Amino acid sequence: MKEIILIKIGEIVLKGLNRKNFEDKLIKNIKRKISPLGEFEIKNQQSTITLIPKNDDIDFDDVCYKISKIFGIAAFSRAAICEKEMSTIKETAREYLYKRLKTSKTFKVESKRSDKKFSLKSPQISADVGEYILEKFNNLTVDVHNPDIIITVEIRDSFAYIRGESLPGAGGIPVGTGGKAAVLISGGIDSPVASFMIAKRGVDLVAIHFASPPYTSPRAEEKVKLLIEKVSSFANRIELIIVPFTKIQEEIKRGCPDELFTIIMRRFMMRISEVIAKNHQCFALITGESLGQVASQTIEAIACTDPATSMPVFRPLIGMDKDEIVLISRKIETFDISILPYEDCCTVFTPKHPKTKPVLSAVVEAESKLSLEGLINDAILNIKSQIIYG
Ligand code: ATP
Ligand code: MG
Repeated sequence: MKEIILIKIGEIVLKGLNRKNFEDKLIKNIKRKISPLGEFEIKNQQSTITLIPKNDDIDFDDVCYKISKIFGIAAFSRAAICEKEMSTIKETAREYLYKRLKTSKTFKVESKRSDKKFSLKSPQISADVGEYILEKFNNLTVDVHNPDIIITVEIRDSFAYIRGESLPGAGGIPVGTGGKAAVLISGGIDSPVASFMIAKRGVDLVAIHFASPPYTSPRAEEKVKLLIEKVSSFANRIELIIVPFTKIQEEIKRGCPDELFTIIMRRFMMRISEVIAKNHQCFALITGESLGQVASQTIEAIACTDPATSMPVFRPLIGMDKDEIVLISRKIETFDISILPYEDCCTVFTPKHPKTKPVLSAVVEAESKLSLEGLINDAILNIKSQIIYG
């Protein structure tokens, strides 16, 4: 039986005059993600994108898994395709949905007729198919309000489509339509979730990770790569930039009050990230900070971090509880990687008593003892970069 995939586009339908750009980008993203799995013809009509396989050996489970991770899709479904003839339609519905019909108690048929020349009207199509299914499955009764399974019959220009369930899409808007941002990624739970949330709003990402060898191990970098791989399975390829941070951390430790260590380190991260972001045509910085989670994420601490950069800093997790963040990290499959025990540069030098209410003037004063520009330039000259594909 020939199968296809029907994709319902999401928020893009609200885009008015720009809609075509969004749709084109979505189709490009779909093509890129599914092309390793086989050849498809792709049609775009009436807010539905149809994927028609050109060969028989395509694994539809794999295709659906890929589709479920593409932003800009509200819902999608697999459908059987058959001739527009009532006896064929009925038999196809019985055969295609056999397993689910056999194990359900109630059903309902819904029909749509975009080919207005088709001899029967929608209610009549539903009634005929329903009657046939009742005849063939004595385990089933009709329930129009809350059925176990809805059989949808669509009469299109060339063929009829029959489908049994609609699967939720990833939502959001197509990646690549919303500019580019640089995400500061640690090996923790939060920053991969923050990356996911910003990619969901259509933004391409560059990832920046600060590493402090030999205090941090190569395995910590490997972990970040794995995290980025998971995020990029929802996004486009992501460039991962590793910044050497050892010297800066040692200098802060040596020259600044211990209680201000973290906040000054954060300000260095912001400054260096800003330079990298600008070199990569990014418009904003993203962090995984959540208000009050740790000493460096109090409102006073964030008010000391932000002035280190002139770029907008987005913190998509700012109002979320840890358990809400964990829920998303499990969904996007980053949680199990994030909890691997390799140390992050933040934890290596963490002071015992960080200031929870730092004052900006005191932070700036403490920092002024360091050779800011020299340290930043040196770190930037020694960054390493690689492209990660999901
Ligand atoms: P996460 O779970 O993402 O590590 P966290 O709760 O552990 O976050 P912090 O360690 O205080 O919080 O870091 C706050 C934010 O600063 C992170 O979400 C991330 O955006 C950024 N950050 C922290 N460490 C690094 C690092 N080594 N490289 C790049 N960014 C970092
Ligand atoms: Mg962390």
